[in-house]
Amino acid sequence: MNIKDQYLAKVFEKVITRNPAESEFHQAVGEVLESLSPVIKRRPEMKELGIIERMIEPERSITFRVSWLDDKNRVRVNRGYRVQFNSAIGPYKGGLRFHPSVNLSIIKFLGFEQIFKNSLTGLPIGGGKGGADFDPKGLSDYEIMRFCQSYMTELSKHIGADTDVPAGDIGVGSREIGYLYGQYKRVKNEVTGALTGKDYAYGGSLVRPEATGYGLCYFVCEMLGAKGESFDGKRVVISGSGNVAIYAHEKAAELGAKIVAMSDSGGYIYDENGIDLEVVRYIKEKKRCRIFEYVNEVKRGEYHEGCRGIWQIPCDIALPCATQNELDAVSAKALVQNGCKYVAEGANMPSTPDAIKIFESAGICFGPAKAANAGGVATSALEMAQNSMRYTWGFEKVDAKLQEIMKNIYLNSANIAEDYGRAGDLVFGANVAGFLKVADAMLAHGVSY
Ligand code: NDP
Repeated sequence: MNIKDQYLAKVFEKVITRNPAESEFHQAVGEVLESLSPVIKRRPEMKELGIIERMIEPERSITFRVSWLDDKNRVRVNRGYRVQFNSAIGPYKGGLRFHPSVNLSIIKFLGFEQIFKNSLTGLPIGGGKGGADFDPKGLSDYEIMRFCQSYMTELSKHIGADTDVPAGDIGVGSREIGYLYGQYKRVKNEVTGALTGKDYAYGGSLVRPEATGYGLCYFVCEMLGAKGESFDGKRVVISGSGNVAIYAHEKAAELGAKIVAMSDSGGYIYDENGIDLEVVRYIKEKKRCRIFEYVNEVKRGEYHEGCRGIWQIPCDIALPCATQNELDAVSAKALVQNGCKYVAEGANMPSTPDAIKIFESAGICFGPAKAANAGGVATSALEMAQNSMRYTWGFEKVDAKLQEIMKNIYLNSANIAEDYGRAGDLVFGANVAGFLKVADAMLAHGVSY
């Protein structure tokens, strides 16, 4: 990390010593602190009143045992998490991740990022994140259901429509949200918007399934528009083949782009004719199997083992939509050499700090996750609003709001960057714009003790 300011460098040192072995959390904090030195010069009260020290400490971290029975009636035990990071501007809000790699460091990095992302949406939502070191791959529907029920039995004690409102993330889609919400209702005997990402039939919002991927493309439209360009005719590479990747593909294709590659954690597919999204959806959402099946289904294209090779494919726009640190310096160099001009992050923290430096020095237009993928949580906040009113809005209305929110996030980030003499630096702009709103709310609330 390149934190020039002495005070911020000390704060960062403390983060590392007080949170040992939490490398993802260190990385997420470091990336924000790198942007803040001009801010504390302009606003010294941020330093004097310990705003940054307070912001890097979660308000509350909960870990809990999740025991459940598999189909052979064997007892299985996982570890559940919910980190309620910051409620300065609204109830904690952020997804649940079910993946074997989940640990406190990953949940804290995601929760920390979520504070600034949620602030950028302009909506009243604080930051939080949760999950479990649970591997849903290969389990039956009943096993998934029993796990979700056990997880929610404990989580329900800590969440609520006006307290903390979880949603989905990796490994938590519509099926899991259904089981989690069913158990929440059973345990609490209330029907409120305590979870988002619900199906439309029982209180979900239209456009929520599409929102992160669509929002990413709306953000990229702003990046392109600022340079007098559009998606039309562009070659696009998208990593992942889950919720974010699928809807990013759908919108980018609708706007005239050709998507030539997608991936999963096993490898990537490359199809020069443009990837057939319906086939990917069938493989991933219906058959729930691996992406290599694509080549067998369409009888064209190539499959390659290992996911990093996807960044070697020449493209105009790269959209990493899979997971953290999936795009490293080697991949960034390949993208630059092959003429890529735009990178926007659909996943959370998919580019390593070295990769971002390479993009910056090559003049690539780079949209950081906390701005570019904020459409999902923004639409979750719209779901909360509809639940509170016990009302539903139509698709066009929610989609129009999403477009407006993504445009405002872009403009807000770009304007702040310009105001600080860093025109075009959306990483800086998003960090500072997200930070200032939360910091001002914390200042207004005083120090609690
Ligand atoms: P899903 O679980 O729906 O999909 C994740 C996809 O990424 C899967 O295709 C998975 O493959 C793939 N994947 C996982 N690890 C790797 C890897 N190392 N290399 C390549 N592919 C990999 O998750 P989402 O689409 O919901 O989330 C994706 C990212 O977007 C995450 O970083 C998440 O935090 C972020 N995000 C999601 C939001 C949402 O609304 N869903 C909102 C904002 C951010 P496999 O099936 O093999 O595991």
